[in-house]
Amino acid sequence: MDLGISGKKALVCASSKGLGFGCAQALAAAGVDLVMNARSEGPLEQAAERLRQEHGVMIKAIAADITTDKGRDQVLNALPDPDILVSNAGGPPPGLWSDWDRDDFIAALDANMLTPIALMKALLPGMIDRKWGRVVNITSQSVKSPIPVLGLSNAARAGLTGYVAGTARQVAGHGVTINNLLPGIHATDRADALDQAVCDAQGITMDQARDQRSATIPAGRYGTAQEFGAACAFLCSQHAGFIIGQNILLDGGAVNTTL
Ligand code: NAP
Repeated sequence: MDLGISGKKALVCASSKGLGFGCAQALAAAGVDLVMNARSEGPLEQAAERLRQEHGVMIKAIAADITTDKGRDQVLNALPDPDILVSNAGGPPPGLWSDWDRDDFIAALDANMLTPIALMKALLPGMIDRKWGRVVNITSQSVKSPIPVLGLSNAARAGLTGYVAGTARQVAGHGVTINNLLPGIHATDRADALDQAVCDAQGITMDQARDQRSATIPAGRYGTAQEFGAACAFLCSQHAGFIIGQNILLDGGAVNTTL
């Protein structure tokens, strides 16, 4: 399917690896020029070069912490007028409800709620003026079904989801869509870190931890970053202009709900 976005420009945050990279890869395959971002310069430049070689699109790689004012300024200076924003950042650490104090919550809110809100606030006016824009926020299945050890993530992402629900409807009339993609477990470094925490807590091997988790997913496996990226690229396409303010689960059926 021709996504109809060749020649558009996208900012894909936190995209040297994992789900962000999957999104950057799928957009590059659709002919979209990119600004890619991550904190570590070496892996980011490698990822950008791979997509330049694979897809022949223009890519700027900006090494910066997207959860800081300075990092966001660097990224926005490199691409002040993107047609597409994919917001993403690392997830908060796991723990127990009694572990977290105010500073932990502020850090989680900064990374997973206030950073995407700041990016939208900076970029939506240009999209509205140009009468076309796509925003996809990478959130989590924890928005629909809490993951008890990820209380910081549950809390921060719920806040972002509430903001998007109203804002998406305020900008939709200008040709701008905002939607959230909710990953269930995908085979990335983040999943490895979560599985390692299970190994440490239960004294089991990584293979056992993965088998245990896979058994809770009706699809019987972890998702891939490529599958995730393809869904993101569709939401950014010309065909998705009537999809507004949705929270779309990509979880292999793990969240057990009818609606
Ligand atoms: P990942 O494989 O660990 O990749 C994270 C990417 O984000 C890397 O490119 C990393 O590069 C970059 N990054 C992290 N913090 C950053 C920051 N402050 N500024 C800029 N770049 C940053 O993680 P993932 O699995 O793709 O997860 C992406 C998001 O989805 C996370 O918020 C995660 O909690 C959420 N999620 C993932 C899963 C899953 O199963 N994978 C499930 C639910 C939710 P640098 O380290 O070099 O910055």
